[in-house]
Amino acid sequence: KESNVRVNLAERSYDIAIGSGNRQQLAEFLRERTQREHAVIITDSNVDQLYADALGDVLTADGWEVQVLIVEPGEPSKSIETCEDLWETMLNEGADRHSIVVAVGGGVVGDLAGFVAATFTRGLEFFQVPTTLLSQVDSSVGGKTGVNLPGAKNMVGCFWQPLGVLIDVEVLTTLPDREYRAGLAEVVKYGVILDEPFFAYLEDNAEAINAKDPAVLTEIIRRSCELKAKVVEADELEAVDMASKFEGGKLSRAILNYGHTFAHAFEAITGYESMLHGEAVAVGMRCAARLAEKQGRVDAEFVQRQDLLLAALGLSVSPPEADPEDILHLMSRDKKSDSGAIRFILPTKMGHVELVSDFQSEDVIASLSF
Ligand code: NAD
Ligand code: ZN
Repeated sequence: KESNVRVNLAERSYDIAIGSGNRQQLAEFLRERTQREHAVIITDSNVDQLYADALGDVLTADGWEVQVLIVEPGEPSKSIETCEDLWETMLNEGADRHSIVVAVGGGVVGDLAGFVAATFTRGLEFFQVPTTLLSQVDSSVGGKTGVNLPGAKNMVGCFWQPLGVLIDVEVLTTLPDREYRAGLAEVVKYGVILDEPFFAYLEDNAEAINAKDPAVLTEIIRRSCELKAKVVEADELEAVDMASKFEGGKLSRAILNYGHTFAHAFEAITGYESMLHGEAVAVGMRCAARLAEKQGRVDAEFVQRQDLLLAALGLSVSPPEADPEDILHLMSRDKKSDSGAIRFILPTKMGHVELVSDFQSEDVIASLSF
């Protein structure tokens, strides 16, 4: 069973097609959206063996000329050096401005391939086949592409929207369990910030989610994409001031940062190694809920409800052992916090959040220990 989410942007609209086993229809999916016939598939070596190589064959059988470019798995591939290798290989192997780029992989491949697509000959048509849960519910929606600088994640990049996103939930069967659970943290986040009924749906279906039931997976990915698309449509270029949401104005992309002020500090303090991003977000949401409780925004029942769902999904992670003062210091250096003022997205009730920059350091520190 297939589901579609339409993302409506100022310059163009595109579909996110979600289904089980639907990657076999990649050729038709592209044909409906482009006139081109030369495809550059960018992937990593894990995903190449599992899926991308076979998808290249699917396109070749459909008459496409196909190049498969393979990078090393992992965050270090999101670098300008990797881009240079890709640009040069593309040039040497005959790609031109009539080629399309198809990213097949997780968020690393998507961010990297999107940036390569945006820049090669000033911009190629771009498609995404995200293969991690995180990339299916988060990084493939919204058009942010780019690479890291040493010591500064996502510092160089641009907005480059795809012509289409094809999501096959079947590929999640091979995803390592930890990566899968890390993706679920962002799914829970959408429920907390925007959609109480969706949060309740996750509570009711935790077992099916853990068993990777295809129908339930299709539904949670569809709803997550829909919610992220709604925010991106309101604030395509991350230009809406965070405060406006709370004056009855437009949604701001900032609300997607729920749990992330804490999470970025946790990732930095653990050297980006021991914790996956989604794990850091899960703890970050637990801390944010506790901070909101200390400030009287939510009650203890809210905190417990969120803890219980995260635990049911295998995400009862605790804050890293570190001096809370150091964590506070790292939060004030987060690039999303303008001029060193820490801003938190905090819940007011399930499905609603607000921007908070007024807080006591003791409350933040207290919300870090449980
Ligand atoms: P990833 O791309 O590194 O993938 C994680 C691991 O899973 C890799 O080893 C990969 O080879 C492997 N893998 C991928 N699909 C698989 C499958 N189906 N079966 C087995 N193994 C598979 O990590 P990620 O979590 O997908 O993405 C993280 C990146 O996404 C970060 O760089 C982050 O900055 C970025 N991101 C971007 C946005 C955005 O809006 N553009 C949003 C969130 C995150
Ligand atoms: Zn995130």
